[in-house]
Amino acid sequence: MNCTQKLGDGIVAKKEFKSESKRLLDLMINSIYTNKDIFLRELISNASDALDKLYYRSLTDKKIKVKKDKLEINLSFDKDSRTLTIVDNGCGMTKEELESNLGTIAKSGTLAFKENMSQDEKANIIGQFGVGFYSAFMVSDKITVTSLSVDDDASYVWESEGVDGYTIKEAKKKDIGTEIVLKIKEDTDEFSYSKYLDEYELKNLVKKYSDYISFPIKMEVTHHDLVDEEKHEYKDHKEVETLNSMVPIWKKSSKDVSDEDYDNFYMDKFSDYDKPLKVISSSVEGMTSYKSLLFIPSHAPFDYYTQEYEKGLALYSNGVLIMDKCADLLPDYFSFVKGVVDSEDLSLNISRELLQESQGLKLIAKNIESKIRKELETMMKDDRETYISFFKTFGVQLKYGVYNNYGADKDKLKDLVMFYSAKHDRLIPLSEYVSEMKEGQESIYYASGASIDKIKALPQVEQVRDREYDILYLTDYVDEFCITAIQSYEEKNFKNVSDENLDLESEEEKEATKKANEDNSDLLKDFCEQLTEVKEVRFSNKLKSHPVCLTTKGDVSIEMQKVFDAMPNDMGIKAEMILEINEKHPITKKLKALYKKDKDEFNKYAKILYSEARIIAGLPIDNPTEISQLICEVISK
Ligand code: ADP
Repeated sequence: MNCTQKLGDGIVAKKEFKSESKRLLDLMINSIYTNKDIFLRELISNASDALDKLYYRSLTDKKIKVKKDKLEINLSFDKDSRTLTIVDNGCGMTKEELESNLGTIAKSGTLAFKENMSQDEKANIIGQFGVGFYSAFMVSDKITVTSLSVDDDASYVWESEGVDGYTIKEAKKKDIGTEIVLKIKEDTDEFSYSKYLDEYELKNLVKKYSDYISFPIKMEVTHHDLVDEEKHEYKDHKEVETLNSMVPIWKKSSKDVSDEDYDNFYMDKFSDYDKPLKVISSSVEGMTSYKSLLFIPSHAPFDYYTQEYEKGLALYSNGVLIMDKCADLLPDYFSFVKGVVDSEDLSLNISRELLQESQGLKLIAKNIESKIRKELETMMKDDRETYISFFKTFGVQLKYGVYNNYGADKDKLKDLVMFYSAKHDRLIPLSEYVSEMKEGQESIYYASGASIDKIKALPQVEQVRDREYDILYLTDYVDEFCITAIQSYEEKNFKNVSDENLDLESEEEKEATKKANEDNSDLLKDFCEQLTEVKEVRFSNKLKSHPVCLTTKGDVSIEMQKVFDAMPNDMGIKAEMILEINEKHPITKKLKALYKKDKDEFNKYAKILYSEARIIAGLPIDNPTEISQLICEVISK
């Protein structure tokens, strides 16, 4: 069944870690990571996962026979040989699994290693990849993993002394499962590694970090029995004890669980180095009863914006893990939420496919969606600072949610999205904008651009800000699509300040502009003929100090066109652009004069002014050499 070539001394593989893994391991060993204790919870948590996997397999595969009450994790230590041993009778690992699971540390992505990193940067790099199995190297000189997989007849032993690499040999393990032996480091002046060879310390660590693990974690412990009260005489006897309470944390009443317990559970279960931003626990009785414990991370997982990221909640049926990541429990717009759902009403023995179709699961998913939404709404109201921090991390996801599925979920999400307010200089929700609208203000104004500073400098912004109307500054490329999907908020329409028809002028002003356009129709027409991509050139009242700007007609704005242009499959969707000229600007006088006496010069001016407007709008200039020549010609006169 395996055709591995022997390398002598029974070694079937001898490998170096990949270079990135090496550096990560090096960082880990010589670090920095102040809390060395966590290695134990990592190993126990892996053991528990392996037990879950084996048990689940036994439910669906008749050939695998497992008794749930025999599944356990054993801890033992030996002070003389300085070893700490963790044994589980879970699914085990094949030779290939030993190699792929324990041979690569940085599973995906490229690590940005720099010379002379600060402690924070180092901790951050380790954090990004989850400390996992390798955290054991913080406390050990050598790690030996012996495993027999449920899918193999032969067992193997993986051994490593750290950065240099690892070997894999055949082994003689008889029972399915994994044994991990850590050779604990010698004590140093700074740290007493011997604490990991101490019964009392180990008991405390298990209680602190792994109490909720649903399988027993057993260890032989010493009892001091009082034999003679008067003489204070004790006699020791040893007994195997279960160290953890085994009550899953989500089954405990939240008043019996401290914030620290929740944080530790989250960091362990979801391999995060940071506490969650928010913990949401609920217990629902009804048609389908369930308990859930959800977490909003305080930062985006390193792979969040990649294809590899899988959304989902861990799904349990009465404490037994059915699925690690049940995607159907979360809508895409809440894909950042982590957590567990446990329901006694879901049958263990139905296939995952059927389960996903079950009404019970759909009901739970619906409740969970609305629970998360309500919690976020409350956070926005009562704890704005935390909400803003959340929104800066995951807001893009909510904005996508608004316009995905043709806006089907927009009503659920429109009160959760925020935009940058010119007036307040911070993010605000739409409700706040509308409640502060000025008398006579009909629309919610917005302006888009690559950055707040660039938007502030847009000529079109001046006129609206002059009226003391607030403007939402949109800098994310999803923003405008999101606003277009929302359509209106409390019956107020959205208006792009770059829309050709802002309708902010008085009747007289409108009349005067109309007349200026009519009187100069030939000039404007000839001007337009010099330009590409522009539908119309007109005089306007919109601009105060600037000579020109580009506005658009219809649904597609310039910012949206930029997004379309950047897409791989160019659909040729273009904004209908209008070049507006400030009638009161001195340039108008000059244009009129040139139009009468020097057509050639007039044409040059037209091209230069149009290029200016494109630059301000952040659009590329197709013929930069020609424009640069023209500018030189004009200014050297
Ligand atoms: P993570 O647990 O976050 O995936 P680890 O580095 O802790 O990362 O572990 C890597 C992988 O090794 C696990 O995903 C699992 O497949 C495997 N593994 C680790 N410990 C065990 C074990 N005791 N039994 C079976 N498989 C294990």
